[in-house]
Amino acid sequence: MRGGDDVRGKTALVTGSTSGIGLGIAQALADQGASLIFNGFADDELQARVKADLEARSGQPARFWSADLSGGPPAGLQTLGPVDILVNNAGMQHTAPVEQFPPELWEKVIALNLSAAFYTIAGLLPGMNERGWGRIINIASAHGLVASVHKAAYVAAKHGLVGLTKVVALEQAGRGVTCNAICPGWVLTPLVQKQIDARAASQGLSEPEARRDLLKEKQPSGEFTSVEQLGQWAVFLCSPACDNVTGTSLPVDGGWTAQ
Ligand code: NAD
Repeated sequence: MRGGDDVRGKTALVTGSTSGIGLGIAQALADQGASLIFNGFADDELQARVKADLEARSGQPARFWSADLSGGPPAGLQTLGPVDILVNNAGMQHTAPVEQFPPELWEKVIALNLSAAFYTIAGLLPGMNERGWGRIINIASAHGLVASVHKAAYVAAKHGLVGLTKVVALEQAGRGVTCNAICPGWVLTPLVQKQIDARAASQGLSEPEARRDLLKEKQPSGEFTSVEQLGQWAVFLCSPACDNVTGTSLPVDGGWTAQ
């Protein structure tokens, strides 16, 4: 992989990068010398810790963008300056049968997991086109490819994000800008830990039993994908090996979607 050759000196915005997969991707891009703009919910102490970590990894300045991405066009996008690599990662989950799904949570899940990517892409593409190079990576999910019960908003948003990825890829083909989606299966992050805890509580299982149960149901490998592995995928998609890879949705799911 020659990702470092391309990423060094580039500016990368990773949404939802104060935790979990987004933080893992931001760290992997920083390790390759990218200057990071990170985003997400964070108190002053967490902001300072993530900034110092990213700067130590990259040797470049890192900046925090405080925008809440669940409320329509995000404030301050145009003040960020040039962004070469955009990773749309911020996301949330809510589970309920469709007829009981709270409308305000439907709206919020769609806003954060889908509409936010539309706004960042639309806002940052003109600059990428001026510079003739850009990489857009949308963090979808196995749920962008297949469905599960009780995840109406999430599955709809992630399928929508896969569709948006294809449209942007077609519109940008031949212009130096690629757009791809990564579709992880289970990754052990705070978002999934909440689902493990809920399963343990509702089924009277210990936490390790609930973890095994969750994996067994969907992910044949029986292993979580790590945030470090997803970081390497993002770096790979920015490397010259992927100059002609666009419009794809790459499952990293331990065989989940092969079933
Ligand atoms: P996480 O909860 O650990 O992290 C979510 C990040 O998004 C945090 O930095 C949080 O502060 C930020 N965020 C939340 N609401 C926000 C808002 N309104 N505006 C801006 N930032 C906000 O979650 P994660 O598991 O790392 O998930 C990251 C992405 O990966 C999500 O899009 C999720 O759907 C997707 N994903 C996760 C898994 C998994 O197993 N964990 C699997 C497939 C896809």
